[in-house]
Amino acid sequence: MSAPLVDVSGLTKTFGADTPQELTVLHDLDVQVASGEIVAVMGESGSGKSTLLHILGGLDRPTSGTVRIRERDVFTMDDEALSTFRNQTIGFVFQFHHLLPEFNALENVTMPARIQGRPISEANERARALLDMLGLADRAAQQPATLSGGEKQRVAIARALMNAPDLVLLDEPTGNLDARTAAPLHNEIETLRRETGQTFVLVTHTPALAAIADRVLRLEHGRLHETTLPDSAFDSAS
Ligand code: ADP
Ligand code: MG
Repeated sequence: MSAPLVDVSGLTKTFGADTPQELTVLHDLDVQVASGEIVAVMGESGSGKSTLLHILGGLDRPTSGTVRIRERDVFTMDDEALSTFRNQTIGFVFQFHHLLPEFNALENVTMPARIQGRPISEANERARALLDMLGLADRAAQQPATLSGGEKQRVAIARALMNAPDLVLLDEPTGNLDARTAAPLHNEIETLRRETGQTFVLVTHTPALAAIADRVLRLEHGRLHETTLPDSAFDSAS
């Protein structure tokens, strides 16, 4: 068997260590994600889901433990190497789209390629294909402020896919959308995985989104538990 794409071992994250506010959010976690899997992470608000995703994405450092992605020990890299690795290997979709307001949709999507210094014409071509795939072909020239919530989140997804990352991390990508806007995005994530073989780890409160996952992990008291959703969750329209 090939090595897992993501291999987390003994991961602990403590905020405010040695202060009265000390809070251990993640406690000695071990988790592996195979290449091509969709894994959903659920858990109550404040349970540490975003903290976990940020660490998996190399955006925040653990207090102890290791994260290996594609067999690279992420946190032994210096900042520059880590930022290059992130740019090439990981796509991140935040709960709030984090699009750059002064750039249009197409420019936002090309940003990860511009950071790599790839030719603009090639980046534009790929960005147009991604926008097209996500049903936004006719929105390419619009600024984020003129897009709907669902459209902004789609642009953010297209941007995360720009450099064809092996690992796509999504933090409540449809959490701010109503059910009707969110449902097509759930299908698109599933379709993407089928077409690209990319690996997705997504944080969600939405049973309909968790339902597309191969595995659902529940974060509780700093620990991760494998869980199965009740069948009724799969009927939910949300
Ligand atoms: P979730 O995404 O599951 O809602 P978070 O990972 O955002 O939870 O936060 C988990 C806990 O860690 C919360 O109690 C939050 O207040 C705390 N926390 C998150 N980031 C920080 C930080 N930078 N400093 C101190 N506490 C933090
Ligand atoms: Mg969160």
